[in-house]
Amino acid sequence: EGQAVPVSVELTVNSPEQMRELGRHLAKLLRAGDLVMLTGELGAGKTTLTRGLGEGLGVRGAVTSPTFVIARVHPSLGDGPPLVHVDAYRLGGGLDEMEDLDLDVSLPDSVVVVEWGEGKVEELTEDRLHVLIHRAVGDTTDEVRHVSLRGVGERWTPVDLGVLSA
Ligand code: ADP
Ligand code: MG
Repeated sequence: EGQAVPVSVELTVNSPEQMRELGRHLAKLLRAGDLVMLTGELGAGKTTLTRGLGEGLGVRGAVTSPTFVIARVHPSLGDGPPLVHVDAYRLGGGLDEMEDLDLDVSLPDSVVVVEWGEGKVEELTEDRLHVLIHRAVGDTTDEVRHVSLRGVGERWTPVDLGVLSA
């Protein structure tokens, strides 16, 4: 049997620019149909990471906090999948409500990144990538973030997340 590929990786990110860079690297592992769930307190860096994802995917429009809209679609500038950036915070009804958003793209053809989606969007697919971002304990001023990525489902089983720590 081949080596088991770890399904999770822990990273330290030292600045907002490094967080964007992580997003650009992560984008290379993503493809249409992928769901990425971002968890972390306000100001953790979820949107900053998503900005890097958008850069890496080569999509149109600056990725900003989707706080005032539930979802924003960023079409690809090339022939890649669009990025659908969702702030599920106000998505009370969960998945049904999300399907009612009437986005002009189909989620299975998109890379879907969800902030605050726990307990709401898991039904979208059995496969998902969880990204947890947190500050060092007791550290309120520093730019250090701990990022943990964990793949769930068959989609992620063969993916070597370890390439992200290189
Ligand atoms: P969230 O979407 O999780 O609420 P944002 O990405 O909108 O967070 O904001 C993160 C804030 O923290 C930004 O002002 C960013 O400049 C700052 N920051 C400081 N250090 C980092 C880091 N290592 N990674 C990401 N953001 C950082
Ligand atoms: Mg945000």
